[in-house]
Amino acid sequence: MNSVLSVVKKLSIMNEFDLIRKIASKIRTSPRVKVGIGDDCAVLKDTKDTYLLFAQDTIVEDVHFRLNSITYEEIGWKALACNMSDIASMGGWSLSATISMGVPRHVSARSLIKIYDGLMKLAKRFDVDLVGGDTVRSPKKLFVSVSILGRVEKKCLVLRKGAKVGDAVLCTGSLGGSFYGKHKRFTPRQSEARFLVKNFNIHSMIDISDGLVGDLGHMLVSSGCQAVLFERTIPISRELKRKKSLSGKKINRALYDGEDYELLFCIASEDVRVLLNRAKKQGIPISHIGTISKKGKGVILKTLDGRLVRLPVRAFTHNLIS
Ligand code: ADP
Ligand code: MG
Repeated sequence: MNSVLSVVKKLSIMNEFDLIRKIASKIRTSPRVKVGIGDDCAVLKDTKDTYLLFAQDTIVEDVHFRLNSITYEEIGWKALACNMSDIASMGGWSLSATISMGVPRHVSARSLIKIYDGLMKLAKRFDVDLVGGDTVRSPKKLFVSVSILGRVEKKCLVLRKGAKVGDAVLCTGSLGGSFYGKHKRFTPRQSEARFLVKNFNIHSMIDISDGLVGDLGHMLVSSGCQAVLFERTIPISRELKRKKSLSGKKINRALYDGEDYELLFCIASEDVRVLLNRAKKQGIPISHIGTISKKGKGVILKTLDGRLVRLPVRAFTHNLIS
């Protein structure tokens, strides 16, 4: 750990992703690990036909939520939901979770119980066991950190890498709604992910937590490809559509706002029609929003008037100041 900190100190400012890359370059794993740092979950050997999925996500007061605009129940729900979303993005289902809480003085024991009400509501809905955790004092801010274990059949595992030139880019649901409250009460797309991986050959998948362009960027870096997004078909959330004052900027919100927690995935273009038809019959909203255009890197937007505009690939990131 000391050596990692010394790397961080060399830079006056370093973002989350640079730090993760530095950490990953120092870590060697055993043959028990099929995929380590760098995807939505770690993939660990399990039975002959399955892998275990293992992930952790943390939400922090004044970074991921503000106490004056979220209920304690919603905090619990969100803490588990964003972890379940990572398990879903690998094609798997969640099994069990542990919960660690950092508790500042301004949060009462009653409020903590409400956090558990939210956690339990979601856990019950998806048959996830809450099996432990840790509780510590935090000097200023509340945080909730969840570790989650899931499982996936080997044949259903989907990674961030695997997108191929010519593939279609699709996403579930609608985008740009997190600012209007979706990030507090989204349903992790586990059922949708299972529908996709059981019925289709999904080449690559990620959940949209850092924004459409940011997470597409992660997928493209892993796959070594460039993509074109179609402005015409990007599904803008109903809440965002209703806002009159934002007319020109709505597409930017859908492209860059974090915490939509939809699935973004690639399939062979010849599978698109069948997939959209079957998804429609199942009541699963899915949009065909782009194409993997060539090897290389970056994201291009095909605008409503047909221009091709290179988009800055930036993801929501936590700047870590040393
Ligand atoms: P997501 O947005 O899907 O939760 P993150 O951007 O948080 O993914 O993390 C990307 C990858 O980096 C994951 O594989 C995660 O396990 C890993 N990672 C993040 N932070 C750390 C850390 N402090 N130490 C080791 N691995 C980390
Ligand atoms: Mg993720």
